[in-house]
Amino acid sequence: AKQQGRQRSQLYEDQPSPISSVRAGLESSLHHALERDELYLAYQPQVQVDSRRFAGVEALMRWQHSSLGSIPPAVFIPVLEDTGLIEAFGEWAIRSACRQYQQWLQQGQVPDNSKVSVNLSPRQFRQDNLEQIVRRTLTETGLPAHNLMLEITESMLMTSVEQNAELLSRLRELGIGVAIDDFGTGYSSLAYLKNLPIDVLKIDRMFVKDIVDNADDAAIAHSIINLAHNLGLKVIAEGVEDVEVLEILSLLGCDQYQGYYFARPSNAADIPDLVARCR
Ligand code: C2E
Ligand code: CA
Ligand code: CA
Ligand code: CA
Repeated sequence: AKQQGRQRSQLYEDQPSPISSVRAGLESSLHHALERDELYLAYQPQVQVDSRRFAGVEALMRWQHSSLGSIPPAVFIPVLEDTGLIEAFGEWAIRSACRQYQQWLQQGQVPDNSKVSVNLSPRQFRQDNLEQIVRRTLTETGLPAHNLMLEITESMLMTSVEQNAELLSRLRELGIGVAIDDFGTGYSSLAYLKNLPIDVLKIDRMFVKDIVDNADDAAIAHSIINLAHNLGLKVIAEGVEDVEVLEILSLLGCDQYQGYYFARPSNAADIPDLVARCR
């Protein structure tokens, strides 16, 4: 058996495992995806819970592979992150989202006080020219800073808290908003929140989806909403799939929501009609 084990491990050393060759394949197609125009952004509307007014959109990266079809972000974003390609792709996402939103603003298709939110990966957040990229993109696209929000996750803030707070302050001095994504899924200390210059907490879908039947989830959502409001932050609930969930969020005082109940992430061309439905 020992002998066999050794043979097997030799086999794995000599030949790439199936997983690693799939990854290598994805990686090399990703190198070309941008220039081949296989990437685009989908936009998911964010809506005010009480007034039902349109509040903005979250931009979500999509990859339409020429032969494999649509590849989910959960598969390709980690590859981008590991290879460092995320820096270029992330910059592309910020620029595309800003350009698109500025166009909608100029055509009067979205309200002046609404926002486009763009996700930042851990690696982008540590990139030393992030602030420059954001500033340059706003200048080049003409998008007013108050129409842009960046989403970062809790786990990105766990280390070097002071440095992060400084970076966030500089970003907010540009006039953009900052949201903490997937709030509740990390292990952040609540105490640090009060020292962070942020605007929004997004409650993860994990605590939203069963809110109707699960009293614990409802209690967690309620606590997050109260905490956020006490700190002067707004709250967006993710993953709202039906009206019962929305009604509870309304009772709990949640500010905004996004989810399949109102709309799935949609092609840019479909957004103006979705906005019009909110008025
Ligand atoms: P996320 O930022 O938490 O995005 C929300 C995810 O929830 C999206 O998945 C969205 O399609 C999905 N969603 C929205 N409403 C509902 C709902 O009602 N029910 C359910 N079941 N799901 C809903 P998606 O588009 O597959 O993206 C997955 C993750 O990939 C994102 O999670 C984000 O972490 C990452 N991602 C997507 N685009 C980008 C990007 O441009 N840059 C970076 N760094 N990450 C991105
Ligand atoms: Ca997000
Ligand atoms: Ca999220
Ligand atoms: Ca999530």
